[in-house]
Amino acid sequence: MKGIAVLGSTGSIGQNTLDVVSRHPDRYEVVALTAQRQWRALAAQCLRFRPQLAVLSDPTHVPELRAALAASGLGTEVASGEESLLAAATLPRADFVMAAIVGAAGLAPTLAAARAGRRVLLANKEALVMSGRLLLEAVADSGAELLPIDSEHNAIFQCLPSARPGVVAAGVTRIWLTASGGPFLRRPLASLGAVTPDEACAHPRWVMGRKISVDSATLMNKGLELIEAELLFGLPPGGVEVVIHPESIVHSLVAYADGSTLAQLGNPDMRTPIAHALAWPERMESGVESLDMLRLGALHFEAPDRGRFPCLRLAEAAARSGGTAAAILNAANEVAVAAFLEGRLNFTAIAAVIERVLERQSSTPMHSLADVLAADGESRRRASELVAGFAGETA
Ligand code: NAD
Ligand code: MG
Repeated sequence: MKGIAVLGSTGSIGQNTLDVVSRHPDRYEVVALTAQRQWRALAAQCLRFRPQLAVLSDPTHVPELRAALAASGLGTEVASGEESLLAAATLPRADFVMAAIVGAAGLAPTLAAARAGRRVLLANKEALVMSGRLLLEAVADSGAELLPIDSEHNAIFQCLPSARPGVVAAGVTRIWLTASGGPFLRRPLASLGAVTPDEACAHPRWVMGRKISVDSATLMNKGLELIEAELLFGLPPGGVEVVIHPESIVHSLVAYADGSTLAQLGNPDMRTPIAHALAWPERMESGVESLDMLRLGALHFEAPDRGRFPCLRLAEAAARSGGTAAAILNAANEVAVAAFLEGRLNFTAIAAVIERVLERQSSTPMHSLADVLAADGESRRRASELVAGFAGETA
């Protein structure tokens, strides 16, 4: 029986994780659940999974959550704030920690779980992109396990003989990172400036949180994933190549020196990588149907258009720069995407904001978490100023 803490349990990945876990009550016990402020959803999850600890990082609705749980006679402790998030990530009974908070907010608890030597199921790619080798070193030092939940990275992991984070597998010549292309793959370029948040979030293949949905529409998601793949699998810049695959059936591929290329295929459903990482090195049922090859039909692959998707080009450049460049890129993107989702920035200005921040803020060597947080803070400040400037231009 493994105890699991689900950080970001009310989100898309969090809910899928609880769906998989609920299929295996003999194997997993939920010990902690966390959310930002969705107290009703968190209360419902607590009633069903009876964790030891529930955390709302925003304290506003803690009284309501406490009252709801007390009324049901549940012994779950309710807490709030950053410290409690760290407590959830390092609870003695949490053998496994699902890192499914979105954005930089997930860095500290993910790092804490890694330092505490747990099996870290990494959905929160931003945490790894920002902190790079620091997170991998924490994993190596503590003997933690880092298993990728991102469908592409989980696919790559499945196609490698014995992957360990940061160690290149012998004979691997290239990783092909597949991208659906998002909702705007074929949309006339001239109309992109006017797309709405709801259009950007209407992903053709996956149902996800709004931030990653916008990242999928700009292809910044693939850029972040390229950096994630280089880190996780120890490849040098250029070792990972993005390929558009609109069907989202092949979740990524690994090419070897002998001419073999291995791929992992499956229906686009995050419960597959979640179940894989939970059960690894075993396999277990996830609720996802396997493919019917007789009905699958054709699969297509094409090169990405970096003119249409400048965010991909910016992320590739940040990957080459190294140091704090990825943290700067990530922070500027978080600010720009939030502004777009709030109607304060045009879709095409997302890339423009990030590009200008990267032009003005040089990458510096990254020795400690303080370096990461300084670069992140500076980038957010610059990006916010630029967003305000763009809002002035469009008004
Ligand atoms: P989501 O927005 O649906 O859920 C985010 C969760 O984090 C929620 O529980 C929310 O309450 C919590 N949260 C948000 N901001 C927070 C903060 N500041 N402090 C504490 N908690 C906070 O997002 P999602 O789609 O589930 O994505 C989660 C992570 O997984 C992201 O990093 C994303 O890139 C990654 N991911 C998601 C998918 C997917 O299919 N959804 C696929 C691959 C990777
Ligand atoms: Mg992905």
